[in-house]
Amino acid sequence: MTEARLFTDDFAERPHRWDAAPPEDGEQDDLPATADVAIVGSGYTSLVAALHLARAGRSVLVLEAEQAGHGAARRNAGYLGRTLKRSFTWLEAHHGAEFATSVYRELDAARQWAFALVAELGMDCHIASPGRFIAATSEAHYKDLARELEVMRRRLGFPYEMIAPADVRRELASDAYKGGAVIPDLGSIHPALYHQGLLKAARAAGVRVFTRTPVTRIARDGKVVRVATPRGAVAAREAIVATNGYTPRHVSWLARRVVPFEGFMAATEELPPELMAKLIPNGRTVIDSNVNINFFRPAPDRRKILFGGLTGSRPRDLREMGARLHAMAARLLPDLANVRLSRVWKGQCAGTFDFMPHVGRHDGLWYALGYNFAGVPMGSYLGLKLAQQMLGKAEGASIFGTTPFPTLPFYGGNPWFVPLAMRWFDWKDARSARRGA
Ligand SMILES: Cc1cc2nc3c(=O)[nH]c(=O)nc-3n(C[C@H](O)[C@H](O)[C@H](O)COP(=O)(O)OP(=O)(O)OC[C@H]3O[C@@H](n4cnc5c(N)ncnc54)[C@H](O)[C@@H]3O)c2cc1C
Repeated sequence: MTEARLFTDDFAERPHRWDAAPPEDGEQDDLPATADVAIVGSGYTSLVAALHLARAGRSVLVLEAEQAGHGAARRNAGYLGRTLKRSFTWLEAHHGAEFATSVYRELDAARQWAFALVAELGMDCHIASPGRFIAATSEAHYKDLARELEVMRRRLGFPYEMIAPADVRRELASDAYKGGAVIPDLGSIHPALYHQGLLKAARAAGVRVFTRTPVTRIARDGKVVRVATPRGAVAAREAIVATNGYTPRHVSWLARRVVPFEGFMAATEELPPELMAKLIPNGRTVIDSNVNINFFRPAPDRRKILFGGLTGSRPRDLREMGARLHAMAARLLPDLANVRLSRVWKGQCAGTFDFMPHVGRHDGLWYALGYNFAGVPMGSYLGLKLAQQMLGKAEGASIFGTTPFPTLPFYGGNPWFVPLAMRWFDWKDARSARRGA
Protein backbone atom coordinates (compact mmCIF):
# COMPACT_ATOMS: atom_id res chain seq x y z
CA MET A 1 0.00 0.00 0.00
CA THR A 2 1.35 3.51 -0.77
CA GLU A 3 2.05 5.62 2.28
CA ALA A 4 -0.77 8.03 1.35
CA ARG A 5 -3.28 5.16 1.53
CA LEU A 6 -1.78 3.58 4.64
CA PHE A 7 -3.31 6.02 7.11
CA THR A 8 -6.96 6.90 7.73
CA ASP A 9 -8.21 10.48 7.35
CA ASP A 10 -8.44 10.78 11.14
CA PHE A 11 -4.99 9.20 11.64
CA ALA A 12 -3.14 10.50 14.70
CA GLU A 13 0.23 9.82 16.23
CA ARG A 14 -1.16 9.10 19.68
CA PRO A 15 -2.20 6.03 21.65
CA HIS A 16 -5.50 4.45 20.66
CA ARG A 17 -6.13 4.19 24.42
CA TRP A 18 -6.25 7.99 24.75
CA ASP A 19 -9.46 8.11 22.65
CA ALA A 20 -11.29 6.72 25.70
CA ALA A 21 -9.03 8.02 28.47
CA PRO A 22 -6.50 10.75 27.64
CA PRO A 23 -3.88 11.74 30.25
CA GLU A 24 -5.29 14.10 32.88
CA ASP A 25 -4.18 17.27 34.59
CA GLY A 26 -3.96 17.38 38.35
CA GLU A 27 -3.12 20.14 40.80
CA GLN A 28 -0.61 22.67 39.51
CA ASP A 29 -0.19 24.93 42.55
CA ASP A 30 2.83 25.24 44.80
CA LEU A 31 3.59 22.04 46.68
CA PRO A 32 2.95 21.67 50.39
CA ALA A 33 6.18 21.88 52.39
CA THR A 34 5.77 18.46 54.01
CA ALA A 35 4.07 15.10 53.42
CA ASP A 36 4.25 11.60 54.81
CA VAL A 37 5.02 10.15 51.38
CA ALA A 38 6.08 11.71 48.05
CA ILE A 39 5.88 9.53 44.94
CA VAL A 40 7.69 10.27 41.66
CA GLY A 41 5.60 9.23 38.65
CA SER A 42 1.87 8.61 38.24
CA GLY A 43 1.59 5.15 36.63
CA TYR A 44 0.13 1.97 38.12
CA THR A 45 2.98 1.46 40.61
CA SER A 46 2.56 4.96 41.97
CA LEU A 47 -1.23 5.03 42.18
CA VAL A 48 -1.67 1.59 43.76
CA ALA A 49 0.96 2.41 46.39
CA ALA A 50 -0.59 5.85 46.92
CA LEU A 51 -4.10 4.42 47.31
CA HIS A 52 -3.05 1.91 49.96
CA LEU A 53 -0.86 4.37 51.86
CA ALA A 54 -3.65 6.99 51.90
CA ARG A 55 -6.14 4.39 53.10
CA ALA A 56 -3.74 3.72 56.00
CA GLY A 57 -3.90 7.40 56.95
CA ARG A 58 -0.71 8.71 55.30
CA SER A 59 -0.65 12.06 53.51
CA VAL A 60 0.50 11.22 49.97
CA LEU A 61 1.69 13.45 47.11
CA VAL A 62 2.02 12.05 43.60
CA LEU A 63 4.42 14.18 41.53
CA GLU A 64 4.19 13.68 37.75
CA ALA A 65 6.48 15.40 35.23
CA GLU A 66 3.80 15.48 32.50
CA GLN A 67 0.08 14.70 32.82
CA ALA A 68 -1.24 11.85 34.96
CA GLY A 69 -0.95 8.69 32.89
CA HIS A 70 1.52 10.20 30.43
CA GLY A 71 3.80 7.14 30.79
CA ALA A 72 3.37 3.57 29.64
CA ALA A 73 0.26 3.08 31.81
CA ARG A 74 -2.01 4.64 29.13
CA ARG A 75 0.03 3.43 26.14
CA ASN A 76 0.35 -0.31 26.60
CA ALA A 77 -1.32 -3.33 24.99
CA GLY A 78 -3.30 -4.36 28.07
CA TYR A 79 -2.14 -7.98 28.27
CA LEU A 80 -2.62 -9.38 31.76
CA GLY A 81 -0.31 -12.34 32.02
CA ARG A 82 2.14 -14.05 34.34
CA THR A 83 4.97 -13.15 32.04
CA LEU A 84 8.71 -13.15 32.61
CA LYS A 85 11.50 -13.24 30.05
CA ARG A 86 13.17 -15.93 32.18
CA SER A 87 11.40 -19.28 31.83
CA PHE A 88 10.50 -21.45 34.80
CA THR A 89 13.03 -24.09 33.80
CA TRP A 90 15.80 -21.50 33.35
CA LEU A 91 15.13 -20.11 36.83
CA GLU A 92 15.02 -23.61 38.27
CA ALA A 93 18.35 -24.55 36.67
CA HIS A 94 20.10 -21.36 37.83
CA HIS A 95 18.40 -20.54 41.15
CA GLY A 96 16.70 -23.76 42.27
CA ALA A 97 13.14 -25.10 42.27
CA GLU A 98 11.99 -23.14 45.30
CA PHE A 99 12.98 -19.80 43.81
CA ALA A 100 11.47 -20.60 40.39
CA THR A 101 8.22 -21.73 42.00
CA SER A 102 8.00 -18.62 44.20
CA VAL A 103 8.62 -16.33 41.21
CA TYR A 104 5.93 -17.90 39.02
CA ARG A 105 3.45 -18.17 41.89
CA GLU A 106 3.90 -14.48 42.57
CA LEU A 107 3.53 -13.58 38.88
CA ASP A 108 0.25 -15.46 38.92
CA ALA A 109 -0.80 -13.82 42.19
CA ALA A 110 -0.21 -10.43 40.53
CA ARG A 111 -2.51 -11.32 37.64
CA GLN A 112 -5.23 -12.56 39.97
CA TRP A 113 -4.87 -9.59 42.29
CA ALA A 114 -5.42 -7.16 39.39
CA PHE A 115 -8.83 -8.79 38.83
CA ALA A 116 -9.62 -8.50 42.56
CA LEU A 117 -8.63 -4.81 42.62
CA VAL A 118 -10.77 -3.96 39.59
CA ALA A 119 -13.73 -5.74 41.21
CA GLU A 120 -13.18 -4.04 44.56
CA LEU A 121 -13.01 -0.57 42.99
CA GLY A 122 -15.93 -1.33 40.67
CA MET A 123 -14.00 -0.17 37.60
CA ASP A 124 -15.35 -0.41 34.07
CA CYS A 125 -12.13 -1.20 32.20
CA HIS A 126 -13.00 -4.24 30.06
CA ILE A 127 -11.06 -6.67 32.22
CA ALA A 128 -11.57 -10.21 30.93
CA SER A 129 -9.90 -13.60 30.57
CA PRO A 130 -10.03 -14.37 26.84
CA GLY A 131 -6.88 -16.48 27.12
CA ARG A 132 -3.66 -16.01 25.18
CA PHE A 133 -2.45 -17.67 22.00
CA ILE A 134 1.33 -18.01 21.81
CA ALA A 135 2.22 -18.55 18.15
CA ALA A 136 5.35 -20.64 17.59
CA THR A 137 7.68 -19.06 15.03
CA SER A 138 9.57 -22.33 14.47
CA GLU A 139 9.28 -26.05 15.09
CA ALA A 140 12.01 -25.69 17.72
CA HIS A 141 9.97 -23.07 19.55
CA TYR A 142 6.88 -25.27 19.34
CA LYS A 143 8.76 -28.11 21.03
CA ASP A 144 10.26 -25.77 23.65
CA LEU A 145 6.83 -24.32 24.35
CA ALA A 146 5.26 -27.75 24.79
CA ARG A 147 8.06 -28.82 27.16
CA GLU A 148 7.97 -25.64 29.25
CA LEU A 149 4.19 -25.50 29.54
CA GLU A 150 4.00 -29.14 30.57
CA VAL A 151 6.58 -28.56 33.34
CA MET A 152 4.56 -25.60 34.59
CA ARG A 153 1.30 -27.57 34.44
CA ARG A 154 2.80 -30.37 36.55
CA ARG A 155 4.62 -28.14 39.02
CA LEU A 156 2.31 -25.14 39.27
CA GLY A 157 -1.01 -26.30 37.87
CA PHE A 158 -1.04 -23.66 35.08
CA PRO A 159 -3.36 -24.84 32.29
CA TYR A 160 -2.53 -24.88 28.56
CA GLU A 161 -3.49 -26.53 25.28
CA MET A 162 -1.09 -27.10 22.39
CA ILE A 163 -2.40 -26.04 18.97
CA ALA A 164 -1.07 -28.13 16.09
CA PRO A 165 0.31 -26.30 13.01
CA ALA A 166 -2.74 -27.35 10.96
CA ASP A 167 -5.06 -25.75 13.55
CA VAL A 168 -3.46 -22.29 13.86
CA ARG A 169 -6.31 -20.70 11.89
CA ARG A 170 -8.63 -21.66 14.77
CA GLU A 171 -6.81 -18.90 16.68
CA LEU A 172 -5.25 -16.53 14.13
CA ALA A 173 -5.72 -15.88 10.40
CA SER A 174 -2.11 -16.70 9.62
CA ASP A 175 -0.13 -19.42 7.89
CA ALA A 176 3.18 -18.04 9.14
CA TYR A 177 3.33 -20.05 12.36
CA LYS A 178 4.31 -23.61 13.22
CA GLY A 179 1.53 -24.21 15.73
CA GLY A 180 1.34 -22.71 19.18
CA ALA A 181 -0.31 -22.92 22.57
CA VAL A 182 -3.39 -21.47 24.23
CA ILE A 183 -3.12 -20.38 27.86
CA PRO A 184 -6.80 -20.15 28.70
CA ASP A 185 -6.70 -18.21 31.97
CA LEU A 186 -4.63 -15.17 30.88
CA GLY A 187 -6.38 -11.85 30.72
CA SER A 188 -6.72 -8.50 29.02
CA ILE A 189 -7.76 -5.03 30.08
CA HIS A 190 -8.25 -1.51 28.73
CA PRO A 191 -5.07 -0.13 30.31
CA ALA A 192 -6.02 3.55 30.13
CA LEU A 193 -9.50 3.07 31.64
CA TYR A 194 -7.84 0.95 34.32
CA HIS A 195 -5.38 3.77 35.04
CA GLN A 196 -8.21 6.31 35.00
CA GLY A 197 -10.04 4.21 37.63
CA LEU A 198 -6.93 3.98 39.81
CA LEU A 199 -6.45 7.74 39.61
CA LYS A 200 -10.04 8.35 40.66
CA ALA A 201 -9.78 5.91 43.56
CA ALA A 202 -6.47 7.37 44.76
CA ARG A 203 -7.86 10.91 44.70
CA ALA A 204 -11.00 9.79 46.51
CA ALA A 205 -8.77 8.30 49.23
CA GLY A 206 -7.12 11.72 49.69
CA VAL A 207 -4.03 11.41 47.48
CA ARG A 208 -2.97 14.78 46.00
CA VAL A 209 -1.79 14.44 42.39
CA PHE A 210 0.43 17.23 41.04
CA THR A 211 1.00 17.19 37.27
CA ARG A 212 3.54 19.04 35.10
CA THR A 213 5.70 18.84 38.22
CA PRO A 214 8.99 17.12 37.34
CA VAL A 215 11.10 16.00 40.26
CA THR A 216 14.55 17.44 39.58
CA ARG A 217 16.33 16.14 42.69
CA ILE A 218 15.49 13.59 45.35
CA ALA A 219 17.68 12.43 48.21
CA ARG A 220 17.39 11.38 51.83
CA ASP A 221 18.65 13.91 54.34
CA GLY A 222 18.49 12.39 57.81
CA LYS A 223 14.89 11.79 58.85
CA VAL A 224 13.34 13.28 55.68
CA VAL A 225 13.60 12.89 51.93
CA ARG A 226 14.06 16.23 50.19
CA VAL A 227 12.24 16.39 46.86
CA ALA A 228 12.91 19.34 44.56
CA THR A 229 10.56 20.46 41.76
CA PRO A 230 9.99 23.74 39.85
CA ARG A 231 6.82 24.15 42.01
CA GLY A 232 8.78 24.09 45.24
CA ALA A 233 10.38 21.54 47.52
CA VAL A 234 8.81 18.92 49.77
CA ALA A 235 10.29 17.31 52.86
CA ALA A 236 8.68 13.87 53.00
CA ARG A 237 9.11 11.17 55.62
CA GLU A 238 9.34 8.58 52.85
CA ALA A 239 9.55 8.66 49.06
CA ILE A 240 8.93 6.23 46.22
CA VAL A 241 10.49 6.30 42.76
CA ALA A 242 7.92 4.74 40.40
CA THR A 243 9.21 5.81 37.02
CA ASN A 244 9.99 2.48 35.28
CA GLY A 245 11.00 3.22 31.63
CA TYR A 246 10.98 6.99 32.27
CA THR A 247 13.44 6.87 35.20
CA PRO A 248 15.41 10.14 35.24
CA ARG A 249 19.21 10.00 35.15
CA HIS A 250 19.52 12.04 38.36
CA VAL A 251 18.18 9.07 40.36
CA SER A 252 21.48 7.53 39.44
CA TRP A 253 21.44 4.27 41.44
CA LEU A 254 18.18 3.23 39.73
CA ALA A 255 19.09 4.74 36.34
CA ARG A 256 22.16 2.49 36.36
CA ARG A 257 19.92 -0.56 36.83
CA VAL A 258 17.05 -0.08 34.40
CA VAL A 259 17.41 -0.14 30.62
CA PRO A 260 14.79 2.09 28.98
CA PHE A 261 13.59 0.96 25.57
CA GLU A 262 10.76 1.94 23.25
CA GLY A 263 7.71 -0.18 22.46
CA PHE A 264 5.66 0.60 19.33
CA MET A 265 2.01 -0.08 18.57
CA ALA A 266 -0.59 0.61 15.90
CA ALA A 267 -4.38 0.41 15.66
CA THR A 268 -6.15 -0.49 12.45
CA GLU A 269 -9.15 1.37 11.11
CA GLU A 270 -12.56 -0.04 12.12
CA LEU A 271 -13.01 -3.46 10.56
CA PRO A 272 -16.19 -5.35 9.62
CA PRO A 273 -17.30 -7.91 12.26
CA GLU A 274 -16.71 -10.81 9.82
CA LEU A 275 -13.09 -9.78 9.31
CA MET A 276 -12.55 -9.34 13.07
CA ALA A 277 -13.98 -12.83 13.63
CA LYS A 278 -11.69 -14.25 10.95
CA LEU A 279 -8.51 -12.52 12.15
CA ILE A 280 -8.61 -13.60 15.82
CA PRO A 281 -11.59 -16.00 16.01
CA ASN A 282 -11.59 -16.52 19.78
CA GLY A 283 -10.78 -12.92 20.65
CA ARG A 284 -7.62 -13.88 22.54
CA THR A 285 -4.49 -11.83 23.06
CA VAL A 286 -1.75 -13.11 20.74
CA ILE A 287 2.03 -13.00 21.00
CA ASP A 288 4.65 -14.94 19.09
CA SER A 289 7.32 -17.11 20.67
CA ASN A 290 10.31 -14.89 19.81
CA VAL A 291 12.24 -12.97 22.46
CA ASN A 292 11.54 -9.77 20.51
CA ILE A 293 7.82 -10.38 20.15
CA ASN A 294 5.19 -9.34 17.63
CA PHE A 295 1.74 -9.15 19.16
CA PHE A 296 -1.91 -8.74 18.09
CA ARG A 297 -5.16 -8.34 19.99
CA PRO A 298 -8.69 -7.15 19.31
CA ALA A 299 -9.44 -3.73 20.84
CA PRO A 300 -11.80 -4.11 23.80
CA ASP A 301 -14.78 -3.05 21.63
CA ARG A 302 -13.70 -5.63 19.01
CA ARG A 303 -13.78 -3.13 16.16
CA LYS A 304 -10.06 -2.76 15.54
CA ILE A 305 -6.92 -4.84 15.78
CA LEU A 306 -4.19 -3.43 18.00
CA PHE A 307 -0.72 -4.73 17.29
CA GLY A 308 2.91 -4.09 17.98
CA GLY A 309 6.47 -5.19 17.51
CA LEU A 310 9.90 -3.99 16.34
CA THR A 311 10.62 -3.17 19.97
CA GLY A 312 13.80 -1.22 20.64
CA SER A 313 14.05 0.08 17.04
CA ARG A 314 15.13 3.65 16.36
CA PRO A 315 12.71 4.94 13.72
CA ARG A 316 12.97 8.48 12.31
CA ASP A 317 9.28 9.13 12.93
CA LEU A 318 6.03 7.39 13.86
CA ARG A 319 4.62 7.33 10.30
CA GLU A 320 7.72 5.45 9.20
CA MET A 321 7.21 3.11 12.16
CA GLY A 322 3.57 2.67 11.15
CA ALA A 323 4.67 1.61 7.66
CA ARG A 324 7.12 -0.92 9.14
CA LEU A 325 4.54 -2.28 11.59
CA HIS A 326 1.99 -2.54 8.79
CA ALA A 327 4.43 -4.48 6.59
CA MET A 328 5.12 -6.87 9.49
CA ALA A 329 1.40 -7.34 10.19
CA ALA A 330 0.52 -7.89 6.51
CA ARG A 331 3.28 -10.51 6.19
CA LEU A 332 1.93 -12.45 9.19
CA LEU A 333 -1.81 -11.80 8.70
CA PRO A 334 -2.35 -11.26 4.94
CA ASP A 335 -5.93 -10.04 5.52
CA LEU A 336 -4.42 -6.88 7.00
CA ALA A 337 -2.56 -6.01 3.76
CA ASN A 338 -5.21 -3.52 2.58
CA VAL A 339 -6.32 -2.35 5.99
CA ARG A 340 -5.38 1.22 6.99
CA LEU A 341 -3.94 2.43 10.27
CA SER A 342 -5.78 4.92 12.49
CA ARG A 343 -3.21 5.32 15.27
CA VAL A 344 0.51 4.72 15.74
CA TRP A 345 2.27 5.39 19.02
CA LYS A 346 5.17 4.49 21.25
CA GLY A 347 5.97 4.29 24.93
CA GLN A 348 8.90 3.65 27.22
CA CYS A 349 9.46 0.28 28.91
CA ALA A 350 12.21 -0.78 31.30
CA GLY A 351 14.38 -3.84 31.00
CA THR A 352 16.78 -5.03 33.68
CA PHE A 353 20.06 -6.90 33.39
CA ASP A 354 18.58 -10.00 35.07
CA PHE A 355 15.21 -9.70 33.21
CA MET A 356 13.40 -9.47 36.57
CA PRO A 357 11.36 -6.68 38.15
CA HIS A 358 12.69 -5.34 41.46
CA VAL A 359 11.10 -3.86 44.57
CA GLY A 360 12.90 -2.50 47.61
CA ARG A 361 14.68 0.42 49.22
CA HIS A 362 18.10 1.96 48.58
CA ASP A 363 19.69 5.04 50.15
CA GLY A 364 16.38 5.75 51.90
CA LEU A 365 14.32 5.73 48.68
CA TRP A 366 11.68 3.06 47.93
CA TYR A 367 11.31 1.75 44.39
CA ALA A 368 9.49 -0.83 42.25
CA LEU A 369 10.35 -1.00 38.56
CA GLY A 370 12.02 -2.97 35.75
CA TYR A 371 8.89 -4.76 34.53
CA ASN A 372 10.36 -5.96 31.23
CA PHE A 373 7.14 -5.34 29.23
CA ALA A 374 4.83 -6.90 31.87
CA GLY A 375 4.05 -3.98 34.19
CA VAL A 376 0.26 -3.95 34.03
CA PRO A 377 -0.13 -6.72 36.60
CA MET A 378 3.38 -6.44 38.09
CA GLY A 379 3.41 -2.65 38.46
CA SER A 380 0.03 -2.76 40.17
CA TYR A 381 0.99 -5.64 42.43
CA LEU A 382 4.43 -4.31 43.40
CA GLY A 383 2.77 -0.96 44.15
CA LEU A 384 0.71 -2.86 46.72
CA LYS A 385 3.81 -4.65 48.05
CA LEU A 386 5.63 -1.32 48.41
CA ALA A 387 2.77 0.15 50.44
CA GLN A 388 2.64 -2.94 52.64
CA GLN A 389 6.42 -2.88 53.21
CA MET A 390 6.35 0.82 54.08
CA LEU A 391 3.53 0.17 56.56
CA GLY A 392 5.63 -2.58 58.16
CA LYS A 393 3.27 -5.39 57.15
CA ALA A 394 4.63 -8.91 56.78
CA GLU A 395 2.54 -9.57 53.65
CA GLY A 396 4.63 -6.93 51.83
CA ALA A 397 7.40 -9.51 51.36
CA SER A 398 8.05 -10.32 47.70
CA ILE A 399 10.40 -12.69 45.94
CA PHE A 400 11.21 -9.70 43.67
CA GLY A 401 12.82 -7.99 46.64
CA THR A 402 15.15 -10.84 47.53
CA THR A 403 17.76 -10.81 44.77
CA PRO A 404 20.50 -8.24 44.11
CA PHE A 405 19.51 -5.55 41.59
CA PRO A 406 22.37 -5.82 39.07
CA THR A 407 24.01 -3.21 36.88
CA LEU A 408 26.96 -3.41 34.49
CA PRO A 409 30.29 -1.60 34.72
CA PHE A 410 30.23 1.76 32.89
CA TYR A 411 26.41 1.68 32.45
CA GLY A 412 24.99 5.03 33.54
CA GLY A 413 21.51 4.85 32.01
CA ASN A 414 22.23 5.46 28.30
CA PRO A 415 20.64 2.46 26.51
CA TRP A 416 22.67 2.88 23.28
CA PHE A 417 23.01 -0.91 22.97
CA VAL A 418 19.26 -1.77 22.90
CA PRO A 419 18.87 -1.89 19.07
CA LEU A 420 21.98 -4.11 18.89
CA ALA A 421 20.66 -6.39 21.66
CA MET A 422 17.34 -6.71 19.81
CA ARG A 423 19.11 -7.67 16.59
CA TRP A 424 21.05 -10.28 18.59
CA PHE A 425 17.79 -11.73 19.97
CA ASP A 426 16.37 -11.74 16.40
CA TRP A 427 19.46 -13.61 15.18
CA LYS A 428 19.14 -16.17 18.02
CA ASP A 429 15.46 -16.77 17.21
CA ALA A 430 16.25 -17.15 13.49
CA ARG A 431 19.05 -19.60 14.31
CA SER A 432 16.74 -21.69 16.48
CA ALA A 433 14.16 -21.66 13.66
CA ARG A 434 16.78 -23.01 11.22
CA ARG A 435 17.82 -25.74 13.66
CA GLY A 436 14.23 -26.85 14.26
CA ALA A 437 13.34 -26.95 10.56
C1 LIG B 1 3.79 -0.12 23.74
C2 LIG B 1 3.79 -0.83 25.07
C3 LIG B 1 3.04 -1.98 25.24
C4 LIG B 1 3.04 -2.63 26.48
N1 LIG B 1 2.21 -3.71 26.66
C5 LIG B 1 2.10 -4.28 27.89
C6 LIG B 1 1.15 -5.30 28.11
O1 LIG B 1 0.38 -5.68 27.22
N2 LIG B 1 1.08 -5.87 29.34
C7 LIG B 1 1.91 -5.46 30.37
O2 LIG B 1 1.82 -6.03 31.46
N3 LIG B 1 2.79 -4.44 30.19
C8 LIG B 1 2.89 -3.81 28.98
N4 LIG B 1 3.74 -2.78 28.81
C9 LIG B 1 4.55 -2.32 29.95
C10 LIG B 1 3.72 -1.51 30.96
O3 LIG B 1 2.96 -0.54 30.28
C11 LIG B 1 4.64 -0.84 31.98
O4 LIG B 1 5.48 -1.81 32.54
C12 LIG B 1 3.84 -0.15 33.07
O5 LIG B 1 2.98 0.81 32.54
C13 LIG B 1 4.78 0.50 34.08
O6 LIG B 1 3.98 1.23 34.99
P1 LIG B 1 4.64 2.25 35.97
O7 LIG B 1 3.57 2.79 36.81
O8 LIG B 1 5.76 1.63 36.73
O9 LIG B 1 5.32 3.37 35.03
P2 LIG B 1 4.70 4.34 33.92
O10 LIG B 1 3.27 4.12 33.70
O11 LIG B 1 5.59 4.29 32.73
O12 LIG B 1 4.82 5.78 34.63
C14 LIG B 1 6.04 6.38 34.93
C15 LIG B 1 5.78 7.88 35.04
O13 LIG B 1 6.90 8.52 35.66
C16 LIG B 1 6.92 9.85 35.19
N5 LIG B 1 8.22 10.47 35.49
C17 LIG B 1 9.42 10.15 34.98
N6 LIG B 1 10.36 10.96 35.49
C18 LIG B 1 9.74 11.81 36.34
C19 LIG B 1 10.18 12.90 37.15
N7 LIG B 1 11.47 13.27 37.18
N8 LIG B 1 9.27 13.57 37.89
C20 LIG B 1 7.97 13.19 37.88
N9 LIG B 1 7.50 12.20 37.11
C21 LIG B 1 8.37 11.51 36.35
C22 LIG B 1 6.66 9.68 33.70
O14 LIG B 1 6.24 10.89 33.09
C23 LIG B 1 5.59 8.59 33.71
O15 LIG B 1 4.28 9.14 33.63
C24 LIG B 1 3.81 -2.12 27.57
C25 LIG B 1 4.55 -0.95 27.40
C26 LIG B 1 4.55 -0.29 26.16
C27 LIG B 1 5.33 0.98 26.02
